[in-house]
Amino acid sequence: IVSRDSHPAGSIIQIRGIPLGGNQIQVIGGPCSIETQEQMNLAAAGVAAAGCRMMRGGAFKPRTSPYAFQGLGVEGLEFFQTAAKLHNLPIVTELMDVRMLDTFMEYDVDVIQIGARNMQNFDLLKEVGRVNKPIILKRGLSATINEWLMAAEYIAAGGNHNIIFCERGIRTFETAYRNVLDVTAIPVLKRETHLPVIVDPSHAGGKAWMVPALAQAAVAAGADGLLIEMHPNPAEAWCDADQALSPTQLNELMKTLGAIAQAV
Ligand code: PEP
Ligand code: MN
Repeated sequence: IVSRDSHPAGSIIQIRGIPLGGNQIQVIGGPCSIETQEQMNLAAAGVAAAGCRMMRGGAFKPRTSPYAFQGLGVEGLEFFQTAAKLHNLPIVTELMDVRMLDTFMEYDVDVIQIGARNMQNFDLLKEVGRVNKPIILKRGLSATINEWLMAAEYIAAGGNHNIIFCERGIRTFETAYRNVLDVTAIPVLKRETHLPVIVDPSHAGGKAWMVPALAQAAVAAGADGLLIEMHPNPAEAWCDADQALSPTQLNELMKTLGAIAQAV
C-alpha cells in the first residue's frame, strides 16, 4: 500500500487543512516535553511567530532511564491543547501504549507520533492503523529502509493510509553527535513510497547548533517537512535541553528554508 507504484504522483496528507507532502515545506516546532501551562503557552507563541503551522510536545516520554522525567501524561495533553488552541495549531504527540489511544482521541490529538523505539511495536502499529488520524512514523534506532517501509505497511493494512515517515538519525560509531542524520534515506524513501517524508534534525544531531545545517540539508534533499525541538528557555528544558532551539533561533532558521525549498 505504501509503495510508490500504488500512487505515482505522491500523496498529500491534510492536517486540519494544512497540506503535508505538496510543494510547501511544513515545519512542526515545539518542546521535547510538555512541562507547564506557561511553558506551553510561550512555546506555542514562539512556534506561531516563527511561521510553523503545527506544534509538537511529548506527554508520554520514552526515556532511556526509568528514573528520568517520564512526561506529565494526560495533564500534559490538557496543557498542550490549551496552548495550541490559542494559535490554532494542530498538535503532534507521541503515543507509546495502545491503552492511551482512546485518551488521545478524546483530547483530539491531530497527529499521533510513533517514536523510534516503537517503530516495530507491531501491535501498536496495528491499533493506529484503525484510527482516522495521521501518523508520524519515526525511523527505528537502527532500522533499515525496508523494515521501516514494512512497519508503515502494518499501519496501512488496517486502513489508515495517512502515514508520514520521519527520519531522525540512526545509530553510529561516531560520538561527536547523537545519531547520524541519514540524508540518503530521503531520496530513497521519496522513490520507494508515495507518502510524505519529514526530518527531525534535533534528535539526529543532539546539539542545537547543528540543527540549522541538518534542517537545511534535509530540505535540500527533498524532505516535505521538519520536526524541530524548540523551548522558550532551552537551558531550563526538562528533557533534551542541549538540542532545543530558542524561539529566536527557530525564527532565524525558518527564514532560510523557503529559498532552499524553491531551489529543489
Ligand atoms: C521525540 O520526538 O520526542 C522522540 C523521543 O524522538 P525519537 O523517538 O526519534 O527518539
Ligand atoms: Mn526530545
